[in-house]
Amino acid sequence: MSTPKQPGPLTTCIHAGNRKNDVYGAIATPIYLTSNYRLPTDGTPVDWSGIETNIYMRNGNPNQFVLQDKLCAIEGAEDCVTLASGVAALSATFVTFLKTGDHVVCSKVCYSATSILFHELLPEKYQISVTFVDASNTEEVARAITPNTKLVHIETPGNPTTEIADIPAIAALAHKVGALLSVDSTFASPLLLKPLQLGADLVIHSMTKYINGHGDALGGCVMGKKELIRKIKEQAMVNFGGILNPMTAYLIARGLATLPLRMKQYCENAMAVATYLSESPAVRFVYYPGLKSHPQYERAKTLMPNGYSGMLSFDIKGDEATHTKFLSALQLISHAVSLGDLESLIVYTQSDSPKMQYYPEIFRSGFFRFSIGLENAEDIIADLEQAFVSCGLL
Ligand SMILES: *Cc1c(COP(=O)(O)O)cnc(C)c1O
Repeated sequence: MSTPKQPGPLTTCIHAGNRKNDVYGAIATPIYLTSNYRLPTDGTPVDWSGIETNIYMRNGNPNQFVLQDKLCAIEGAEDCVTLASGVAALSATFVTFLKTGDHVVCSKVCYSATSILFHELLPEKYQISVTFVDASNTEEVARAITPNTKLVHIETPGNPTTEIADIPAIAALAHKVGALLSVDSTFASPLLLKPLQLGADLVIHSMTKYINGHGDALGGCVMGKKELIRKIKEQAMVNFGGILNPMTAYLIARGLATLPLRMKQYCENAMAVATYLSESPAVRFVYYPGLKSHPQYERAKTLMPNGYSGMLSFDIKGDEATHTKFLSALQLISHAVSLGDLESLIVYTQSDSPKMQYYPEIFRSGFFRFSIGLENAEDIIADLEQAFVSCGLL
């Protein structure tokens, strides 16, 4: 029996999840700005914490449902929960699946809120113990897992180093002790890395980044098997309350519709910029998973066959003053946090940052995390080149 042909990613991003039942026949899903919905008046009991019916905006709303369905179709996931930020998605996952006394294995290279949750808040408040590992080193992960490990949480590609973990191998290790594997793959977007298909139980994205893609909205999502996502909705979404509001869900679904087009351009631009940087005498090092010099290049090629996304890390030669001059000389590229925006954003981490101890040796004297934008690659490269000249590196 032949299976029906799946639509391609462009078609899926545009059409999946859209509702065709609007009373006025609207093609774009309207924004449902209503906190409350009419309840039955015929004595039918209402589940006040229900997540399946429209009751109250915090229990779920139509724009959130559209976005969730789109994401499931793209990722190939059974279910999805969208929340108010990437951090809300991470913390919802942690509070849903962890309790006092549990052990967690977490990658050393991870988003700062994840790092603070696992280094300080969850151990101090809930006596959760955490072992931090270099997740690109599978043997180190294997040594850290204990019979009491309930969750292995990794980031791939890691923020900010772009290191790649062997997801299938780590999934097998976690499952041996009955632990869940969650993967934050914000850097890749759901188009370029599919952690669920590689064996992970949960995949988390900050939708603020590539999924929304326009640098104007905050959101997060978790995808996985129905019974796991249902728990997050019932426990964390409704009762901790980090719901995604309909207006933002609408914006993010609109951004997501063009993700395949944008991602193609991000990948092309990043490859061109990474190649330029790797050949420049002004540059001390570049980490981009698509460069042969990346320490996990072969693994990236296997896990991300459709491209390496738009994130890279690099450093220039010269002292602190040269770095400051370089940043202030940039004209097109802005010094700003966040990533996956329309425009190129660069952020500098100085050698005295407390996070430096978690990164590979080569990063520790300071580095730039560079989110390559959708401008013409030649213009991004020209901006770097003129900044190198103006700070005396060329
Ligand atoms: C930005 C980011 C987050 C946090 O997302 P917010 O939407 O800012 O809360 C989590 N993980 C990674 C890898 C990120 O880059």
